[in-house]
Amino acid sequence: MKQQKRNTICVQGGWKPKSGETRVLPVYQSTTFKYDSSDEMGMLFDLEKSGYFYTRLQNPTNDYVAAKIAELEGGVAAMLTSSGQAASFYSVFNICETGDHIVSASELYGGTFNLFAVTMKKMGVDVTFVNQNDPEEELEKVFRPNTKVVFGETIANPAGAVLDIEKFARLAHKHHVPLIVDNTFATPINCRPFEWGADIITHSTSKYMDGHALAIGGAIVDSGNFDWDAYPDMFPGLTMPDESYHGITYAKKFGKLAYIQKATAQIMRDLGSIQSPQNAFLTNIGLETLHLRMKCHCENAQKMAEYLRVHPKVAWVHYPGLPDDNYHTLAQKYLPDGSCGVLTFGIKGGRDNSIRFMDALELVAIVTHVCDARSCVLHPASHTHRQLSDEQLIAAGVQPDLIRFSVGIEDVDDLIADVEQALDKS
Ligand SMILES: *Cc1c(COP(=O)(O)O)cnc(C)c1O
Repeated sequence: MKQQKRNTICVQGGWKPKSGETRVLPVYQSTTFKYDSSDEMGMLFDLEKSGYFYTRLQNPTNDYVAAKIAELEGGVAAMLTSSGQAASFYSVFNICETGDHIVSASELYGGTFNLFAVTMKKMGVDVTFVNQNDPEEELEKVFRPNTKVVFGETIANPAGAVLDIEKFARLAHKHHVPLIVDNTFATPINCRPFEWGADIITHSTSKYMDGHALAIGGAIVDSGNFDWDAYPDMFPGLTMPDESYHGITYAKKFGKLAYIQKATAQIMRDLGSIQSPQNAFLTNIGLETLHLRMKCHCENAQKMAEYLRVHPKVAWVHYPGLPDDNYHTLAQKYLPDGSCGVLTFGIKGGRDNSIRFMDALELVAIVTHVCDARSCVLHPASHTHRQLSDEQLIAAGVQPDLIRFSVGIEDVDDLIADVEQALDKS
């Protein structure tokens, strides 16, 4: 069949029922799977046959949803994880071990920043955060012989910085390492990082993919393009025998599927952050309307950004859709159909006025979340990023007065009316 368009994949990708099967993706609500012979199950444990045996490693509902996400991104394989955090961790830990080094854009989701700067550091994996807008010659300097991966976000949460994916891919590949891109905010509807050279994509499906704020989840997608065997000494986990699997070598045995196979068979087996099949089912319902919702989120956010930009009480607005935004040029290249529904702004008078404004909102709620149907706001300096020092806040692109506004899919006139009455009170 002809390569389908993304709108069609959103609705019908993944689960493709045969005659007489359920039209809707079924939930395989079972921890385990039954076999007729001991040999058959043994083959599964040896990875000699593909199949299901225990939901901590794999479940069919999850795999159909992962297949849909892989189709949307144009990847060869994907897996679901219990959260976006688990996806970020697994994506890196699948190729890094103690003594290795990560290069990451500093404009990052707060949780990912902590994961790299604190938790992975304790595990012996070192990170260097870079200013993603630095010229290539500058960025080159942070690479070390033990650098194993480059990481960045298509649109950084919350700063709205757009990553120059081609530049980052060039840098990564020059140093023989893969580029991992967190594509949560853009979603594959608005950006396909593989088309620009990224090797692996991560998602927090808790955001636009779910879209209804129902289920925490994550996903990892592999393009299948990175050649682990080209520099086999660099990625021993993929190119050397795995003693915990009778000495199989993932790159040799699974080729383009090696990365996701290893993450499933080894990392998921040992760490167990699987998404529950029920949550995968809910995520799939969200995916069915992702293309419609993204369009509406972007239209509403654009109107909201334009409204805020000229309001006398507003100090500044960042949204890649604004022509004078720092990231407008990059957004035109990587996000021609729109970026996302999240914008940031500050109110004149600083931090206290921003907080007074938020408390006065009625329709827009104060919520620790972004990217769902309902509009919400959050003050990163006092909420998501409160663990960061002022220096780290600035490096992550977060001013102390910054309000993160996730514009939903309500009628934008009602949203603007709510913002207007709250600005009057600030
Ligand atoms: C929310 C988020 C995460 C973490 O996802 P969870 O599902 O909350 O664990 C990672 N990256 C980005 C860009 C996010 O917005």
